[in-house]
Amino acid sequence: MTSGEAEDVGGRPTARILTVGDELLSGERSDTNGPWLAARLQKAGFRVGGLESVGDAPGPLEEALRRGGGSADLLVVTGGLGPTEDDRTRPVVARLLGRELQEAPWVLEEIRRRFRARGFPDAPETNRRIARVPEGARTLANPAGTAPGLLLEAGEGRHWILLPGPPRELRAVWEASVLPVLDDLHPNRPEADRVRVFRTTGIPESALAQALEPHLVRHPRVTVAWRASLRGVEVRLSAGGDSAPDLLQAVEEEIRDLLAPWQWEAPSGDLAEAVLHALSSRGWTLSLAESCTGGRLAGRLTDVPGSSRTFLGGVVAYSDDLKEALLDVPPVTIREKGAVSGETACAM
Ligand code: AMP
Ligand code: MG
Repeated sequence: MTSGEAEDVGGRPTARILTVGDELLSGERSDTNGPWLAARLQKAGFRVGGLESVGDAPGPLEEALRRGGGSADLLVVTGGLGPTEDDRTRPVVARLLGRELQEAPWVLEEIRRRFRARGFPDAPETNRRIARVPEGARTLANPAGTAPGLLLEAGEGRHWILLPGPPRELRAVWEASVLPVLDDLHPNRPEADRVRVFRTTGIPESALAQALEPHLVRHPRVTVAWRASLRGVEVRLSAGGDSAPDLLQAVEEEIRDLLAPWQWEAPSGDLAEAVLHALSSRGWTLSLAESCTGGRLAGRLTDVPGSSRTFLGGVVAYSDDLKEALLDVPPVTIREKGAVSGETACAM
C-alpha cells in the first residue's frame, strides 16, 4: 500500500481509470470502457478512486496520467494503443516513466501471424508501432486483436495497466490476461464488499429515506446508496469484512416491514416481471385498457417470457369515440372531466 489516496479504510488497494480518445470528448462516442472497468475492479476488490476521460493530445494525456498514476495503487488506461498516428498512449507513458520504446519481437511475430492467418502476405509496416513497447513492460495477451495490453511498474509499488480501446478487445484482454495478474500484484486484498439491493416503487425517495434513515444510521459500517429512477427507488446497502453477511442480514430484518408495502423483486430486475409474478401467485389474470400509452404497457408485459399465463390482452382506445364504443366510457365523463383524467381512466 502506498501514500495518500492509496489508503482505504477497508484495506483495499485503490484503482483509477483513464479512458483515452478524442471521440470520447466530442460526444461521438460514449465511454463504455470506464464504467465496465469500474464494475470489474470493484468486484475484484479494489476501491475505484476516480474515472476520467481525456483526448489524444500528448499534453493533456500526460497531465491526466500524472494525476491518475501518482495517487492510486493501480492505474488502468484504455485506448490509444493502435497503429495510427493518433494513438499516443505508448510513447507518452514511456516518456513519463522514463523508459525507451523497444520493439518486442514476440509482439511483432504475433501481429504477423494474425495477418497471415487472414490471408495477407505480411502485416502492414504501421503495425510495427504496436510492437514498440516501453522497456520493462510485461505484455498481456489479446485473444481478440493485434494490440496487446501492457503492464508497467510505476514506482513505489504502483502499477499501470494499458489496455486496447475497442470494447470487445478490452474485455478479452481483461478476462484472459488481467485478472490473473491482479492476484499477483495484490494477493492479500480483502474480498469485495457484500451488497444487498432493495427495489421499491410507488414511494418517493425522500419519504423512503425518512422512514429508513433512523434505522440505517445505527449501522455506521453499512454504506447506503439511493438510486431513484422512473421505475422507483433502489436502496443499495454494502459492507465489507468477515461480518458483512451477518450485518446486512441484521439490517434487512430491521427494515423489512417498513419496505414491504413498496418492495418488489424480480430475477431480471424488470418491474413488469414483478407485476406478472404478483398476479400469478394470487391466481389472477390481467387485461388492459390503454389510451396515451398506445399499447406500450401491453408491450412491456408481453416482453416477459411466460406472460401469456397471466396477461390476456388489451384495448388501445386512443380516440374519445373508441373509448365510448369499446369501453363504455360515458360521454359525459369525457366532456366534463376530460379524456386525460382520473375519472375517464377509471371508467375505462
Ligand atoms: P483506440 O484504441 O484508441 O484505437 O480505439 C479503437 C476503437 O475503440 C475506436 O473506434 C474507439 O471509438 C473505441 N473506443 C476506444 N475507447 C473507448 C471507450 N472508452 N469506450 C467506448 N469505445 C471506445
Ligand atoms: Mg483512439
